[in-house]
Amino acid sequence: MEHTPVDVVVIGAGQAGLSAAYHLRRRGFVPVDRPEHGAETFVVLDANAAPGGAWQHRWASLKMATVNGIHELPGYAVPSADPRSASRDVLPPYFRAYEDEFDLAVRRPVRVGAVRRADDVPGGRLLVDSDAGGWAARYVINATGTWTRPFWPHYPGQTRFRGRQLHVADYVSADEFAGRRVVIVGAGISAVQLLDEISHVADTFWVTRREPEWSDEAFDIPARVAAIAGVEDRVRRGLPPGSVISVTGMHWTPWARAAQERGVLVRHPMFASIEEDGVRMPDGAFVEADVILWATGFRPAIDHLAPLRLRTPEGGIRVADGRAIDEPRLFLIGYGPSQSTVGANRAGRAAVRAIVAERAEVAA
Ligand SMILES: Cc1cc2nc3c(=O)[nH]c(=O)nc-3n(C[C@H](O)[C@H](O)[C@H](O)COP(=O)(O)OP(=O)(O)OC[C@H]3O[C@@H](n4cnc5c(N)ncnc54)[C@H](O)[C@@H]3O)c2cc1C
Repeated sequence: MEHTPVDVVVIGAGQAGLSAAYHLRRRGFVPVDRPEHGAETFVVLDANAAPGGAWQHRWASLKMATVNGIHELPGYAVPSADPRSASRDVLPPYFRAYEDEFDLAVRRPVRVGAVRRADDVPGGRLLVDSDAGGWAARYVINATGTWTRPFWPHYPGQTRFRGRQLHVADYVSADEFAGRRVVIVGAGISAVQLLDEISHVADTFWVTRREPEWSDEAFDIPARVAAIAGVEDRVRRGLPPGSVISVTGMHWTPWARAAQERGVLVRHPMFASIEEDGVRMPDGAFVEADVILWATGFRPAIDHLAPLRLRTPEGGIRVADGRAIDEPRLFLIGYGPSQSTVGANRAGRAAVRAIVAERAEVAA
């Protein structure tokens, strides 16, 4: 495969990748297919066929009113939308308009299969191999999110189950479970939101590994800062980033309160095994089920970085300030502490600042 020289490759055009692309553009970088004398170049590669990052795939009932709060992309307000409209209807057109407005020249659908070193020279190029050609980059900004890596834990008997098993990544709407018995697995926001929703039309049974720690305190700015610092510390040490919930506990929301008042927010311990027609509880009791919904989260989509051999024995990559400690030509944004719309914005800006500062040093 031939590798086209480029200064920066951005992988992924969700919130994080578009933030990086915006800041590259602002700092004078130009799309690689439109070189200008003296200007450095970039290219944005995205595996999706259309703009919107993961938002285009989220379930229909994730409304603008029920998302956690969407921070606008840098320099461009989110259009006002009916809070009852689905985030997947509102946000992808917004992303499309953003790409057009700032001329970010995203290439899609382009899936990156591998990022590797061209040679052993520390200041050498990183090679980015995709299904639409290769690039030889000075820097790679990885912004591939988590949506394509739904996490399914393994439990004995899982393949024997005769009902339907699905992950929240494949969830469409509660209607398809009307009148069924649904076991919901997981202690995060998605689990509670879908438990509330599905319990209106089906019998639900909620299981979690640990007792959820509900917090009465508002998830205010100090709480957020503390949560982010916890995740930041994990990734600096090369631990898997984990979720923000694992650091903060669950904070009450109006829909969680409503579910509690209706008596559906009843948590049971995790089942011990799965059988043909239901789940076996640790005390031996059997719970019949037609559906098992795994609301068990996502993992970073970073398999394509494997050739760089950055994984620690604990399963993470050592990252500080959005940059791989063991491969400074690589930035990971929307990863760990920057896994939110506001965090993604900031991480995109910080990555570009670091690159610009370093290029200025080289030129001096
Ligand atoms: C259900 C759910 C609800 C959430 N709600 C909120 C919320 O309300 N507020 C908030 O701040 N955060 C929320 N988050 C966190 C959210 O994921 C981030 O805020 C943000 O949208 C993620 O942006 P991103 O750019 O990191 O990833 P994504 O939006 O996932 O974009 C990643 C892009 O990379 C592309 N890609 C992946 N692999 C490759 C590859 N190998 N080659 C090329 N392209 C690739 C994908 O196609 C995708 O377009 C939510 C997360 C989930 C799962």
